[in-house]
Amino acid sequence: MKLPTLNTQILLGAFFGIVIGLGLLAIGKDSAITQSSVYAAGLLGTLFIDLLKMVLIPLVFTSIVVGVANLQAHQKIHRVWMFTLGFFAFSMLIAIVLALLASHIFKTGQGLHLEMFQHAMGNFEAKQQSLADFFAQFLHGLFVNPVAALAQGNVLAVVVFALFLGIALVIGGERYRNSLTLLQELLEIVMQMVRWIMVVAPFGIMALLIKLIVSQELALLVTLSKFVVVVMGTTLVHGVIVLPLILYLVTGMTPLTFWHGAREALVTAFATSSSSATLPITLRCAEHNLHVRKEIAQFVIPLGATVNMDGTALYEAAAALFVANLVGIELNFLQQLIVLFTAMFAAIGAPGIPSAGMVTMVMVLQSVGLPAEAIAILLPVDRLLDTLRTAANIEGDMVGSLVVQQLLKDKK
Ligand code: ASP
Repeated sequence: MKLPTLNTQILLGAFFGIVIGLGLLAIGKDSAITQSSVYAAGLLGTLFIDLLKMVLIPLVFTSIVVGVANLQAHQKIHRVWMFTLGFFAFSMLIAIVLALLASHIFKTGQGLHLEMFQHAMGNFEAKQQSLADFFAQFLHGLFVNPVAALAQGNVLAVVVFALFLGIALVIGGERYRNSLTLLQELLEIVMQMVRWIMVVAPFGIMALLIKLIVSQELALLVTLSKFVVVVMGTTLVHGVIVLPLILYLVTGMTPLTFWHGAREALVTAFATSSSSATLPITLRCAEHNLHVRKEIAQFVIPLGATVNMDGTALYEAAAALFVANLVGIELNFLQQLIVLFTAMFAAIGAPGIPSAGMVTMVMVLQSVGLPAEAIAILLPVDRLLDTLRTAANIEGDMVGSLVVQQLLKDKK
């Protein structure tokens, strides 16, 4: 019997995950069968994420070194940097503006009161973090002993060291050819492991979605339903209309072709809520399905997974306006501009792991004098919101790699 393609298997995994999750909810959260199923799903889902994380650091390291070395060899690196960072900033700005508009139109948070959430806020203490502190910490975290960064799984620091190493290798030219060849081979070996991990991806995704659905707190979801729907709806507008439109205008690729190629990565990001864990699959989709040239994908995708987060930027801005409405503060134009920029920094600084955006959001709230404790209200629904925003985050990376590739062609 011929198995369906991996793409189809992953979709089936997601479908069954949702159906089984809803089925277990219908049986009841406290029933023995639900509890043992959630335990098994939790174990399986965590193992899948562990497998992805196992290859993550070697993959980020080798792919950036090799990507930079190949680009530098063609002397295109300046333009690639410019287009890549330009696209990242542009797409995050659009996402934030969308969030600000949607929050104004739908006035999320109005009609709710802080006192309604005393219970959630009671046992929560927000860590103070000003923009200046955050910035200093961010810069300080960029340059780290590479052995420590590799061992601790510090993706951003690994990216920075790999960028330096890639440039140094090329400047050294023929003298360092062996080191470069070694890293190229290592990258191919890690990609082989990614292919093996993909075999279990449909099961991992199914397990993660079962756990996600069963562990939602329904009462809170209902109270916050307007905010949840507005954030999800705006994220969808960005992911289904804005990004594909930019892609179509620049490259002529239709949304259907894009989604067909990007599907495995989008579903994995949705289920894992982690851009980093999804990175091996994002890279595979960009190179194999979307035909982004290796050297461009190997540079843009890992960099994007750590700094380019459209979904997170959108969420941070929407949450700031939600909290402002909740406590009855009207933010003026200047304050909204501050939200716009801090949300962008907060998204850039957030690591690609589940709920990272909630941590950096403290800074956004404090930048305009909103109570940071209010994020305790959003924490219980964050796992749900994290699904779509992580998918939008990595969609931005894949669209970015295609756009950069096209812009480079046009400039020739
Ligand atoms: N989970 C997101 C990601 O990995 C980050 C966030 O919490 O917004 O891309």
